Amino acid sequence: MVTITTQELNDLFRWCDDIDMFATDRPINDTKDFEGSCVHRTSFCDKTCYNVKLYKLYPNMYERDNRCERIWQKLPTDVSFYKQNLVPFFAKKKKQTKRIRYKTRGECIKDMSDIYRVRAMALAMPSTTWWLVTRAWRDKKLKFLIEQELMPLKNIALNGSTDPTTTKEEYDMLKRDGWNTMFYGSDDGHVGIDKAFPCPKTHKGLKKHCSVCKGGCFSMTTINRRTDTHLIEH
Ligand code: SF4
Repeated sequence: MVTITTQELNDLFRWCDDIDMFATDRPINDTKDFEGSCVHRTSFCDKTCYNVKLYKLYPNMYERDNRCERIWQKLPTDVSFYKQNLVPFFAKKKKQTKRIRYKTRGECIKDMSDIYRVRAMALAMPSTTWWLVTRAWRDKKLKFLIEQELMPLKNIALNGSTDPTTTKEEYDMLKRDGWNTMFYGSDDGHVGIDKAFPCPKTHKGLKKHCSVCKGGCFSMTTINRRTDTHLIEH
């Protein structure tokens, strides 16, 4: 049986002031004990990922990533585990838990097991909306499984992460299959998007807005409408 301590959960779910919510992280690149999670990354990620710069400024990020990945890897896929452990953990929090973000850095859906972890957490905590931004749509099998297992859950704010390497065909496919998209990489937008939603946090500098944002990344869970969100560089 898997056991998890409060200390481990506090490590895994850090409070992120910038988005006004609890958030998890995963290692982008290999750590001393684990393979990196960004296995679906693009050439654009390699060139521009700002987290890679942060690792140089804050070497302790490596250590925390390694610890978090150890915790993440032991998480099971049964709903009862999260009812017993996550529900009481978050019930004690004074800060908001209506929305929680998966991975401010790293990839949440590295492989199949991650889909079932996310699904179990969402089912165990139906009053929380889980914000999931992923590039796993670039893997056909994972994309299919996400559409089967996660997309139908109304408390998962699913967004396909895109950048200037995303093709018009890929946009058309994501749109056809009901995915919200979240684009970053050019302040002028992307040719494949007809009408993008300007992210209030990056376009208007509305720090903490993510926890109350109705459009953009959360549109499917709030107004039941698919959206292409545009983030500008900050
Ligand atoms: S669109 Fe809304 S939720 Fe998404 S990043 Fe911008 S402010 Fe946050």
